[in-house]
Amino acid sequence: MNRAYISIGSNQGNRREQMERAIAFLMVLGGVIVKRSDYFETKAWGKEDQPDFLNMCLELTTIKSAHELLKVIQDIESQLDRQRTQKWGQRTVDLDILFFNDAIINDDHLTVPHPYIPQRKFVLVPLAQVAADVVHPVLHKTVQQLLDSCPDDLEVVKVG
Ligand code: AMP
Repeated sequence: MNRAYISIGSNQGNRREQMERAIAFLMVLGGVIVKRSDYFETKAWGKEDQPDFLNMCLELTTIKSAHELLKVIQDIESQLDRQRTQKWGQRTVDLDILFFNDAIINDDHLTVPHPYIPQRKFVLVPLAQVAADVVHPVLHKTVQQLLDSCPDDLEVVKVG
């Protein structure tokens, strides 16, 4: 059985409803959700003239490979009518694979661990709720250690 950590974010429409729909799809198509974080709200990263993001993280056990799981999350994103028009722009729902076991993957389709983990508090804060002691297989630091040393100063506010 594989263990994956997935980040889910949205800043468009009814964010929480869409994210709950994405989670429901993941339970049907992806695997078993073992843990889920609270929801956190953050100002948009990299582009500030857009609505705030809602973010959360999940721990999932799955029989799927990393690339099969990528296909699942891409299918979910298209089901939820994600608009891919603008880099850093508004999006219905964005799902990313953060960790997949302790795999290190770098190919045309997939980078695991996800490269933005160490820089972004909106990922690290919810991830630390479900994976504080998980060790980043490239940086050899736990998620909690990465959070403690993260230079990102965007406020990440728990909204339950
Ligand atoms: P974005 O929606 O902006 O996060 O980017 C989606 C693209 O990132 C897709 O084409 C994926 O193939 C690629 N990608 C690379 N690594 C990952 C990952 N760890 N999780 C999700 N998508 C990834």
